[in-house]
Amino acid sequence: MSFDVNKLNILYETPLEYMPSISKELGIEFYLKRDDLTPLGAGGNKLRKLEYLVQDAIDQGATMLITVGGGQTNHGRQTAAMAAKYGMKCAILAVDEYPGELTANMLLDRLFGCELYLKKPDGRPGSVQMNELIADVTAKYEAEGEKVYFIPMGGSNVLGALGYYDCAVELDRQAKEMGLEGARVIDTVGSTGTYTGLYLGLKDIKSSLHLTGIAIMPFSEKSLAQLENHLNEVKDHFGMDVEVDRADFDIELGYVRGGYNLPSEEVRKAVGLMASKEGILMDPCYTGKAFAGIIDMVREGKIKQGEKVIFIHTGGMPGLYTPAHRVEFEKELMDGVHIL
Ligand SMILES: *Cc1c(COP(=O)(O)O)cnc(C)c1O
Repeated sequence: MSFDVNKLNILYETPLEYMPSISKELGIEFYLKRDDLTPLGAGGNKLRKLEYLVQDAIDQGATMLITVGGGQTNHGRQTAAMAAKYGMKCAILAVDEYPGELTANMLLDRLFGCELYLKKPDGRPGSVQMNELIADVTAKYEAEGEKVYFIPMGGSNVLGALGYYDCAVELDRQAKEMGLEGARVIDTVGSTGTYTGLYLGLKDIKSSLHLTGIAIMPFSEKSLAQLENHLNEVKDHFGMDVEVDRADFDIELGYVRGGYNLPSEEVRKAVGLMASKEGILMDPCYTGKAFAGIIDMVREGKIKQGEKVIFIHTGGMPGLYTPAHRVEFEKELMDGVHIL
């Protein structure tokens, strides 16, 4: 259960909290694991992965972190904050349109001193353009004498997976302390690093908790096969005594609502429900969409009345301020603004 790797150990345990008003509203016992409260750069799930990745970068003598994502990447923002804290340069690379203003995470990235490279999509496959961009920008900084450490999308590689293995161990202990044995744990599935760590961690310690993922972007048979390969890769790398079995993958694919990060009225309603009942902010790309999925699962009877549900709040709040979402929220919320 402990692996031969170094990590920074800078994150505190995050709270596991009961949500009384949402529980009442949905007729379930609803808890949030507050990984939105991890301590750097406005928080979020990527910091658990970055504890391992940034330590590895330091161990290798890196002077700079380069990572990739969409222009609005939460992972990039958390990487930029870690780079700031550990005195490294940082660049985020995206094949994406400039939204016409420095919004949301982009503004925060710049405050952390991080450089942003946005390359306009030119019709070729995104991965081809991205690989070119990575090669060009890395070469530029290496020529300036930087030692670059590359972190993949979402920090979701073999080493990064240990971040959510740790979370699984922490959560299992908290759940026992709160009498939540057998509860269902729900996480948002994007680049799958969070699901990977939780799956392996919960299985390795023979936890009573059941893991359900909710996909927030299209997830095909091929993605499932890739996930299975990745789980096996992580398990073999660290010698975990776990059987990876596709039969116990439990990932809901039906709540994608059109595609990655697309504005959706149901998601805005779910974000509004959590905010107005519990004073907690979710985001329109990941956690709000997964929470909208939870609401539907309760309505459809997939989650039973009275069931104990722990949702991992993975952060992402700055996403509320991206233009596409903000404009829609504004239309719906202006009726309570009284300009006198
Ligand atoms: C990245 C992210 C996720 C998804 O985590 P993965 O490990 O990429 O699957 C969920 N929620 C938020 C807010 C994120 O930024």
